[in-house]
Amino acid sequence: MNKTDRIVIAGAGGFIAGSMVSRLAGEGFTNICAVDIKPIEQWYQTTEGVENVSDCDLKEKDNCYGVAKDAVEIHNFAADMGGMGFIESHKAECMLSVLINTHLLMAARDVGKVQRYFYASSACAYNTTLQKDTSVTALKESDAYPAMAEDGYGWEKLFSERMCRHFREDYGIETRVARFHNVYGPFGTWDGGREKAPAAISRKVIDALDKGNDQIEIWGDGEQTRSFMYIDDCLEGVLKLTRSDHADPINIGSSELVSINTLVDIVENIASVKLNRNYKLDAPKGVRGRNSDNTLIKQVFGWEPSLPLREGMVKNYDWIKTQYEARKAGETVVE
Ligand code: NAD
Repeated sequence: MNKTDRIVIAGAGGFIAGSMVSRLAGEGFTNICAVDIKPIEQWYQTTEGVENVSDCDLKEKDNCYGVAKDAVEIHNFAADMGGMGFIESHKAECMLSVLINTHLLMAARDVGKVQRYFYASSACAYNTTLQKDTSVTALKESDAYPAMAEDGYGWEKLFSERMCRHFREDYGIETRVARFHNVYGPFGTWDGGREKAPAAISRKVIDALDKGNDQIEIWGDGEQTRSFMYIDDCLEGVLKLTRSDHADPINIGSSELVSINTLVDIVENIASVKLNRNYKLDAPKGVRGRNSDNTLIKQVFGWEPSLPLREGMVKNYDWIKTQYEARKAGETVVE
């Protein structure tokens, strides 16, 4: 790509897209358009020299056609989403994100000169019947079918993946689709109900230390398993995929499987504290076990996300602690 080519990043007020904007600007791209529905003061980060389009609802077709004009590359990270607490209670809202991807694809077809279109899918697109055990067999790309995705959010992802495929086959838009497995790191949601386990546990530990409380609430029995990928690995994977010839959906995730209890151990170790765990068994828990099979990504790119969880969690914990302390001092922070 030419460094002056226009790249549109949808969802740039959010965690992953905001970090992608920063990374691409750092690589010398000078024509980046960052778009989000949120007002600019609610974006996690903004990057100098970037055209920021805030208060822009990409569910609206006209808005998609507006931002896609002259775009050479579009990255769609925009979605109404959150951790299990959010997606299990906002299924219709999650499914409405289908309008974002649909209208952005139509815009790519009709008004842009789009060479590459990236869509952020999720491991929630996988068949949930394969994820009933903590010692789960890692999910490989073919496990999305026969389909029985996560209700609401996961079905939207699977449908949108499919839409990308057909826009490639029928209209020649070079779509690329990644199935992310839990991404974490600085500049992401850490409070307010949409946060995921790495951020929620870090915040709870910081809060317990701050309040001199020795208790922590864990959702479920803590034995449910997941893998967690650090943001830098995620961005690296997206750029490798977007610029590659690999057109089918591919896992971008860590294969370091841990239980939630182990994740709590890691955070307690970082914070040098040991708390009493209260297990909230009726809380939203999601599937019992999930891991990323990285055979395909290693085969295609000779690479896989590899930052050890503990190393990434140190950076994540430190950033959340800074935010927590700033909020406590009365500063305005984005949660
Ligand atoms: P995020 O919530 O931080 O960012 C999403 C952004 O999209 C938000 O800033 C939101 O305001 C924006 N948005 C929502 N509706 C919009 C609309 N109608 N118009 C314009 N902008 C809109 O989430 P994230 O963690 O950065 O996730 C980015 C993408 O990656 C999402 O598609 C998500 O489903 C996918 N994903 C994330 C993870 C993860 O662990 N973070 C895992 C799997 C998939």
